[in-house]
Amino acid sequence: MPMISNHLPTAELQALDASHHMHPFTCNAELAQKGARVITRAKGVMLTDSDGHEILDAMAGLWCVNIGYGRDEMAEVAARQMRELPYYNTFFQTTHLPAIALAHKIAELAPGALNNVFFAGSGSEANDTNIRMVRHYWAVKGQPSKSILIGRNNGYHGSSVGSGSLGGMAAMHAQGGLPIPDIHHINEPNWWADGGDMSPEEFGLHRAQELEQAILSLGEDRVAAFIAEPVQGAGGVIVAPETYWPEIQRICDTYDILLIADEVICGFGRTGEWFGSQTVGIRPDIMTIAKGLSSGYAPIGGSVVSDEVASVIAKSEFNHGYTYSGHPVAAAVALENLRILEDERIIEHVRDVAAPYLKDKWAALVDHPLVGEAKIVGLMGSIALTPNKATRAVFAADTGTVGYICRERCFANNLVMRHVGDRMIVAPPLVITPEEIDVMIARARTSLDECHAILKERGLI
Ligand SMILES: *Cc1c(COP(=O)(O)O)cnc(C)c1O
Repeated sequence: MPMISNHLPTAELQALDASHHMHPFTCNAELAQKGARVITRAKGVMLTDSDGHEILDAMAGLWCVNIGYGRDEMAEVAARQMRELPYYNTFFQTTHLPAIALAHKIAELAPGALNNVFFAGSGSEANDTNIRMVRHYWAVKGQPSKSILIGRNNGYHGSSVGSGSLGGMAAMHAQGGLPIPDIHHINEPNWWADGGDMSPEEFGLHRAQELEQAILSLGEDRVAAFIAEPVQGAGGVIVAPETYWPEIQRICDTYDILLIADEVICGFGRTGEWFGSQTVGIRPDIMTIAKGLSSGYAPIGGSVVSDEVASVIAKSEFNHGYTYSGHPVAAAVALENLRILEDERIIEHVRDVAAPYLKDKWAALVDHPLVGEAKIVGLMGSIALTPNKATRAVFAADTGTVGYICRERCFANNLVMRHVGDRMIVAPPLVITPEEIDVMIARARTSLDECHAILKERGLI
């Protein structure tokens, strides 16, 4: 094996990467030709690559590095915990301090009766837990036929067989035999793409009522739960019209359907509150958490469960768990992350400083000839690229062609901004300052201008 270090030239690192490493959500043959960008270190909101570029990470990794990169305290806590107790399980009537303390802290932060935590290693695992838990809940209550979970098209809940089934990503369902039985999907509240002649308010209500129609046609006695992200992340930062969530809550209450809020992105400050459920005004029975729980410093996720559901599950053995449920190092790291979020008032910084500052700059992007709508909640935002704002038209080229060109320009301008189809999305670390937001917006505008020029040149507009 060659000596692999930061001192190797980028091209060599890329070749070594391509020779053995299979990247997720990637055409590896294509990437091997092109070479992956090699990220070597990071601090605050900035990444450094193997060529010494300083890149502003407007995606906080994968929506997770809420406290920003390079916090020494996190490393200290991990090292201390590894020395004291690197691992022990919580299966066989044993527990340990990090799991006790983290469950306690999460119960304190979570709204309402969400006072119980079932730990997992990731968001996908937590949603797999949720599938089994809600079905088991209804079975224990004597209603085993309530086994259908309803999710949304373009929702994202993870990449395992269960969580990938809950999600509504057509490209994922097309591979590997998804979805599993008894999963149903309704349409998402994406007014820009699907609203037609309706006002956003009418459309929000209309899309929420698809849940009611689904329950009525499947049968109330068959539906266990509805799962959704308070703000759809990987689907393109789709912000529901104001009428949507109150109607969803009403429907779940009316038909006795459990509401699962997938807070993997929205949780831990992203929307300017601790949880997205608080921002959109819903009372979930279960929340899925991961990502911002540890700011990505260690892999950990979980299900935060209401007292009612937890008390039913507690009656008998729930035959479910992961080797790394409540992993002591990950739990200690998560606890330190929550301490930093609280002590440094980072959620208040989002609510009072960063989000209001970004909101104006973001909204102003609609001045750009390519930008149709600009949506933002807290520090998660999206812009729709379009050849005609008035008609909300789509490009003649395949969906995603223009988004990809724009993303490539962003990368070339040292800005990580992701594309979902022809929407561009951001979700920077929550610690981003107004000065850094200025840099982010300036780079985004340059990239949009360059993208516009390329589209003209190639006759794509
Ligand atoms: C990322 C994500 C997941 C999956 O989490 P993993 O840790 O990647 O398994 C689930 N739900 C939402 C909303 C996500 O964004």
